[in-house]
Amino acid sequence: MAGHGASETATVGATDPRIAEVLAKWWGFDRLRPLQADAIQAALDGRDSLVVMPTGGGKSLCYQLPPLVNESTDVVISPLVALMKDQVDALEAIGYPAAALHSGMSQEERIAIRDRLAAGELRLLFTAPERLVNTGLLDLLARVGVRRFSIDEAHCISQWGHDFRPEYRQLSLLRERFPQASVHAFTATATPRVRDDIAAQLNLRDPEVLVGTFDRPNLCYRVVPRTDRTGQTLEVLGRHRGEASIVYCISRKETESLAARLAAEGILARPYHAGLDAKQRHKTQDAFARETIDVVVATVAFGMGIDRSDVRLVLHTSLPKSLEAYQQETGRAGRDGLAAECVLLYSSADVFSWESLVRKSAEESDLEPDEVVRLVAGQTEHLHAMRRYAQAARCRHAALSEYFGQPYGTEPCNACDVCLGETESLADSTVVAQKIISCVARVGERFGVRHVAEVLRGAKTDGIQRHGHDRLSTFGLLAAFDQRAVENLAHQLLDQGLLGRTGGDRPVVTLNERSWEVLKGGRPVVLLEPRTGRTKATKADVDDWQGVDRDLFERLRAWRRRVADARGKPAWTIFDDKALRGIAREKPASPAALLRVKGIGEKRLADFGAAILDMVAGKEPDEPTE
Ligand code: ADP
Ligand code: ZN
Repeated sequence: MAGHGASETATVGATDPRIAEVLAKWWGFDRLRPLQADAIQAALDGRDSLVVMPTGGGKSLCYQLPPLVNESTDVVISPLVALMKDQVDALEAIGYPAAALHSGMSQEERIAIRDRLAAGELRLLFTAPERLVNTGLLDLLARVGVRRFSIDEAHCISQWGHDFRPEYRQLSLLRERFPQASVHAFTATATPRVRDDIAAQLNLRDPEVLVGTFDRPNLCYRVVPRTDRTGQTLEVLGRHRGEASIVYCISRKETESLAARLAAEGILARPYHAGLDAKQRHKTQDAFARETIDVVVATVAFGMGIDRSDVRLVLHTSLPKSLEAYQQETGRAGRDGLAAECVLLYSSADVFSWESLVRKSAEESDLEPDEVVRLVAGQTEHLHAMRRYAQAARCRHAALSEYFGQPYGTEPCNACDVCLGETESLADSTVVAQKIISCVARVGERFGVRHVAEVLRGAKTDGIQRHGHDRLSTFGLLAAFDQRAVENLAHQLLDQGLLGRTGGDRPVVTLNERSWEVLKGGRPVVLLEPRTGRTKATKADVDDWQGVDRDLFERLRAWRRRVADARGKPAWTIFDDKALRGIAREKPASPAALLRVKGIGEKRLADFGAAILDMVAGKEPDEPTE
């Protein structure tokens, strides 16, 4: 959403001049996105609303901004403590008076917040649905005169959604207790059916329904047939060295073994799943937020509370169980609006495993038989939509948009494997296969994939010179490809059984009967274009780095990490990547110029202006203190 296209070129749509003032002063943004303008106007008018915006669309601003304009105290209902904490941290970074009331707090902390609330000091109070109904909080809110409630992740109220939370049902009570207040529902994933359900469950009164475009143009989607989970994970991560990445696995065990493997390769990775104790989970989340690790290898338990906006890669090593889940999990990439990649390793075996899992868990539940049937049918439908997405050779952006009820059009998106032409089969597959097979024969079936590929590439390695392989007729035949591409092609032949391989530590590639059939021309071969090193840069990728001094950007990131450490806060709450790239692009030389960079408001200027201007000028800033 952010960064590209029409969304940020539109002018402030709302009529109230105070909006622009507040937006610039607190956030350092110069305009609202169109849907934000409408949502904020509805909030200021006290009109109920249902806002459906994809992750990264900028929902939070829609409920954060109005209370500053009105000087009111508003309430936000959020499903998870981690989510609330992150938001409060981010708001505190800009000096915004907000607090969260949740179960993880001591009695004293809660009392302190209630006092601030009663004194009218808070503009926003975050709380969980169960807390709202089970405590005397409602009375206090009534006394303070709360007039606006925002429900975050509102799809949790719907049984048709993919993440139903029974405690959300109690929110219908707000309407009865606060007939004068307006209610605003926010969600990132809602099919039309879920949307209607949200409005009905919350008793919304003639709500302003605002539905954003689901498409996330800054995300590049790729689906890759899974052949080697670890190898392919390493390959994809290789495109994102030093960048924030989330790798999703289905089982807890997988997350642990894969994380260990990545760590052995020198990647700063840790596992995350619901079976780890709370302390460990917290440590990992914290390390990720503070950028001391780059990669979290996780089950889907990870993510709801992760607001790190600079996630550049979301990799699924197995099939998610619905497109809703996929949209939500991939939605965690590129929330700062900068280019990011979403890769799905697909194997049809996953569909079978899910099907039996769905059946088993439904049967083991204490649901009535007809409910079991309905549940299984519903989940199978979700699963098959997911499978169709993975198997279809059509634009991923179009497929996702249309699933969520929005036509996409037929223009190539320039940000998916299909439109970028990465999924095509190699034009001269059979000839390339013959070259590879014949090279295996020339080296006497005594070498591994790497060496064979080096010969084909025409590399001048010691091994090649020692064995005189630079004199072979196949030497340099595939010099047009890079090393990993040739290896990938050889692996495809192995996978198809067109080459053999010995076991052991140092497997050697061998010929079999079918190899000879290919060589003699009696057997056509289809090879996929190797992706390795051949993924194409998307337009967003190029645009987002346009004019950015990468060296300065990296120095700013390192500094941000130190500031985050000193303050004990997630790094992205200090500054997001977009702001840092803006600085590294525009290289402001004065406070006034710095203020013109998007994402820099008065508070950040006061807190960090001097340090940033130092760094832009090539000087080392003073060490950050708390
Ligand atoms: P959501 O909650 O919908 O996933 P966020 O509220 O986290 O999205 O916003 C996503 C990103 O967009 C954040 O980095 C935020 O700072 C940025 N953003 C939001 N509104 C604007 C705006 N009007 N101008 C520029 N950036 C914005
Ligand atoms: Zn496309």
